[in-house]
Amino acid sequence: MHFRTRAIHVGQDRDAVTGAVVPPIHVASTFVQPDASMSTAYDYARTGSPTRHAFERTLADLDGGVRALAFASGMAATHCVAQLLVPGDRIVTGTDIYGGTWRLFNRVLAAQGILVTAVDTSDTAAVAAAVVPGTKLVWIESPGNPLLSITDIAACADIAHAAGALLACDATLATPALTRPLEHGADIVMHSATKSIGGHSDLLGGALVVRDAELGTRLHWLQNATGAVMGPLEAFLCSRGLKTLELRVQAQSATALQLAEWLALQPQVRRVLYPGLAGHPGHALAVRQMRGGFGTIVSFEIDGGVEQARRVVESTRLFQLAVSLGAVESLIEIPALMSHGSYDPAARKAVGIADGLIRLAVGLEAFADLRADLASALG
Ligand SMILES: *Cc1c(COP(=O)(O)O)cnc(C)c1O
Repeated sequence: MHFRTRAIHVGQDRDAVTGAVVPPIHVASTFVQPDASMSTAYDYARTGSPTRHAFERTLADLDGGVRALAFASGMAATHCVAQLLVPGDRIVTGTDIYGGTWRLFNRVLAAQGILVTAVDTSDTAAVAAAVVPGTKLVWIESPGNPLLSITDIAACADIAHAAGALLACDATLATPALTRPLEHGADIVMHSATKSIGGHSDLLGGALVVRDAELGTRLHWLQNATGAVMGPLEAFLCSRGLKTLELRVQAQSATALQLAEWLALQPQVRRVLYPGLAGHPGHALAVRQMRGGFGTIVSFEIDGGVEQARRVVESTRLFQLAVSLGAVESLIEIPALMSHGSYDPAARKAVGIADGLIRLAVGLEAFADLRADLASALG
């Protein structure tokens, strides 16, 4: 069956008792056992809950995995993967990654004795050079954030596996509707469900998806031991979000491409970063690796640096000045001051995140309205 059919039907069984077409939200924290040594499929909701499982089953199917695990946030999901490592192990990660991931790796894990190497992962040779004995995890993000770099997932999988390391891919910007990293050889996919999966700026959540059952068991053990699980109300909202994910992401991506093309023609705009533009360095790879669109995020730089950028982001009306992405409402922000404020300023500069870079998270509004809003702010 096609993606959008499975998004509606897999894992979302009607209620056997009432016939309700939407599975009920189970809020119970504990489940009665038939006897003291036996449990049903459920015993305590940190370990597993029916509403969370429904979302996990749908997502695992959509991502082409055997198991998904839902977390309280994207960072909780990322942290769970990091707990596979012990002091002395190495992570190779990208430079164009989410600011919170940068902080977790460089501030939290590095202080615990995990060695972190950051390279431009869109440069496959740089990844190959950085992976050395002791590398246990390669962590990539494609498209990257906020520069929209495209990383060759299959090439990174080969490099990681040759060294005995796992490849994990943060696919929050792509979503399973546009890229399914497990199909390209990744071992773990991470999603911030807060973004396109939820899709309406009304929940926090994260997820991991794997294609190896044994790795799924290890990660579930860690999730249960550490406890940052998704609650039932969020799981219900994520299941609901998945049903329209493909429609939303394709429509938002089409608008993002139109806006990127329009921005590239504006005299005040110095450069536009969007993988759907033929001039983007990752365009050819994005055409091979992505299906149905190039994502909902567009970044651009204008003349006049950060002062002028501030004026633009503070002048839009439809584009609301806020971090986050992937929801139905469009947002605008300055990564250096907002989403990527947790980077070292020096690291930010070194990886090419200019202080005046503006990032658009394109929502579901009409292109003409969004264009008019940007035109008036640029003016
Ligand atoms: C938001 C985000 C995260 C972190 O997810 P939270 O749900 O905010 O914890 C990780 N990666 C990317 C690309 C994100 O956009």
